Amino acid sequence: MKNAGRIYLSPPCTGDEERAVIAKAFDSGYIAPCGPFVDEFEKRLAKLANRKFAVAVSSATAALDLAMAEYGVDETWVVIAPTLTFIATVGPAFHRGARIVFVDSDETGNIDITLLEEALKEYRSFSPHLMIIGVDLYGRCSRNGEIARLALRYGAKFILDSAEAVGAISEDGPAGSQGEMAVFSFNGNKIITTSGGGALLCDDEDKAARARKRSQQSRENMPWYEHKEVGYNYRMSNILAALGLAQLEKLPRFIERKKEICRRYKEGLSPFGWEFLPSVEGENYWLTIALAPSQDARDNALRKLEQANIEARCVWKPMHLQSVFAQARVFGGKVSENLFNRGICLPSGSGLSNDDIERILLLLCH
Ligand SMILES: *Cc1c(COP(=O)(O)O)cnc(C)c1O
Repeated sequence: MKNAGRIYLSPPCTGDEERAVIAKAFDSGYIAPCGPFVDEFEKRLAKLANRKFAVAVSSATAALDLAMAEYGVDETWVVIAPTLTFIATVGPAFHRGARIVFVDSDETGNIDITLLEEALKEYRSFSPHLMIIGVDLYGRCSRNGEIARLALRYGAKFILDSAEAVGAISEDGPAGSQGEMAVFSFNGNKIITTSGGGALLCDDEDKAARARKRSQQSRENMPWYEHKEVGYNYRMSNILAALGLAQLEKLPRFIERKKEICRRYKEGLSPFGWEFLPSVEGENYWLTIALAPSQDARDNALRKLEQANIEARCVWKPMHLQSVFAQARVFGGKVSENLFNRGICLPSGSGLSNDDIERILLLLCH
């Protein structure tokens, strides 16, 4: 059960519209991982990301795994990713045995392009199978046009993890529009949710068809069950796609509200020595990230919020500091470590009230 009265970091924001469309999906009889709502959700997602194709699946992690399957990522591959991210970014590549190489952030929190190029230069000679997995961290698009150019120059594949950035729009285009393939997440705490879910986005018809086939059981088009390869069963259910459609309708409002929440946090905390990640054009404001004056102040703030039954979290712990990646190479590292030591994700739910924000500010300023 949910903890009554607790303020959560980014809880689902749902209402009568979601209830109604789920009931409609239920009554339609399509209670399966296919159906008209999945088709419609995919169409709308492709449009949102300015892509030709979208494949709705059970999570962004699953979508990333389908991208790894498309390129046959295995132990001969080097996969370069930002160190400051959620572990799911590199999870599927890790499980396929790829060598994972991490790159530090620039001051925005996103991958440092200069260090990324250094990593590409060095690892190009190491393996012909090179991949960049970019991340639009906290709903803020990274310099994806530049990453795409680097990928081309160094013969790397470019996959984009836009799990947190649904609805963001950068100068390179909307979130999810860059890279050979990109992914969205609709997990419960993301800006829009299907309770759990994700999507794979791309422009190549054959890649989309293969991903779709693998997202089922890779059955051949025969009257009997014929298999030339083994699938993954990652499909999204029709009921959840209906929920996603209702959430998509609200996405512009969610972004507006989160922007306002961020503005108020900045206004309230800046006079007290708090800093913020520099704004990035077209971000979706999924979470407001505040940087405490010091690590002690960060710890103090987390403690006070928890005592008041308010959920806040540390910034992602960089991957190069994780024991599971103790052997992994990292280019730089200090910038992400500083963001981790001082950063705090503040409650940023679209349903957060102004009174809640003022309560949080009072706690943090005293
Ligand atoms: C949430 C998240 C994921 C994973 O999304 P799921 O849908 O939960 O699998 C991947 N990458 C990043 C950066 C995320 O924040």
